[in-house]
Amino acid sequence: MRYEAPKTIKEAAGLLAKASGNAFVLAGGTDLLVRLKGGLIEPDLVVDIKRIPSTQTITRTAAGFRIGAAVPAVALGENAALAKAWPGVVEAANLIGSDQVQSRCTIVGNLCNASPAADSVPAMIAAGAKAAIVGSKGRRTIPVEQIVVGPGKTSLKKGEVVEAILLPKPAAKTGDAYLRFIPRTEMDIAVVSAGVCLSLGPKGVVKAARVALGAVGPTVIVADAAADAIVGTRLEDAALADLAAACEKACKPIDDKRGTIEFRTDVAGVLARRAAKIAYDRAGGK
Ligand SMILES: Cc1cc2nc3c(=O)[nH]c(=O)nc-3n(C[C@H](O)[C@H](O)[C@H](O)COP(=O)(O)OP(=O)(O)OC[C@H]3O[C@@H](n4cnc5c(N)ncnc54)[C@H](O)[C@@H]3O)c2cc1C
Repeated sequence: MRYEAPKTIKEAAGLLAKASGNAFVLAGGTDLLVRLKGGLIEPDLVVDIKRIPSTQTITRTAAGFRIGAAVPAVALGENAALAKAWPGVVEAANLIGSDQVQSRCTIVGNLCNASPAADSVPAMIAAGAKAAIVGSKGRRTIPVEQIVVGPGKTSLKKGEVVEAILLPKPAAKTGDAYLRFIPRTEMDIAVVSAGVCLSLGPKGVVKAARVALGAVGPTVIVADAAADAIVGTRLEDAALADLAAACEKACKPIDDKRGTIEFRTDVAGVLARRAAKIAYDRAGGK
């Protein structure tokens, strides 16, 4: 196995494009190394992106925030401006693993590992995050929901590497929240999860919303009907009931030892409802 630690993202993309055999990007390694040690993958090339300066920082721009692909999840919570603007995204990232895992794992690794239960992904999608991708032929930026196409599968082409996650500047009176259900208190994979982001207009009326559900389908589900159910409301009980019903309808969960279809479907509605209330509160609604 060849290990490379390039100093620029272009060099990383070039190495991946030219690779023959199995090539992997290494960020925090908390998924990749587990799979490697378990014999599930046999990489011919591993490209470590942690020495690339453009992947190492969180920057605030006029358009919002840029989170480099090698920034460990713990650093998101330590960035006061980011935590204030996008508390839901930050709480989702900070739920990943333990303190040890937090100091290594990245939200881009969480995304590109393509697990349907990845914690940061529903929150990023609800927030309208985009992925900045670099390939040997150039750059492109796409919505986060277009990266994962199935369990363990992404839309990234050979030679492409995600350089950063771009979060927009939140509109006035915007709040987001993320909740997951796990049978233990921590260090477990979401059985169901929900991310909600909403913005308020005059008199506390929801004027825009996004709802994303995790672990209830092969990829994160963007529940547009659930978002529509709360737009134009002040999140009254009837609106919350409609939101929950729309989430239940959008679910396509599997039945396994961690949760039945019925349980996951029911909990998706409950979590979306609770996350919407937190987001509403954070947006300044009463
Ligand atoms: C003990 C433990 C507990 C965990 N708990 C949780 C949890 O609670 N919630 C949760 O969601 N996950 C959990 N995980 C899984 C894992 O920690 C996360 O998915 C983490 O965010 C992965 O990030 P990473 O930087 O370590 O990714 P890596 O392992 O470095 O990479 C993961 C995958 O993404 C690819 N990749 C990484 N970066 C890029 C890039 N920039 N461009 C293109 N492809 C890239 C890699 O090639 C690899 O296929 C846990 C793992 C462990 C070991």
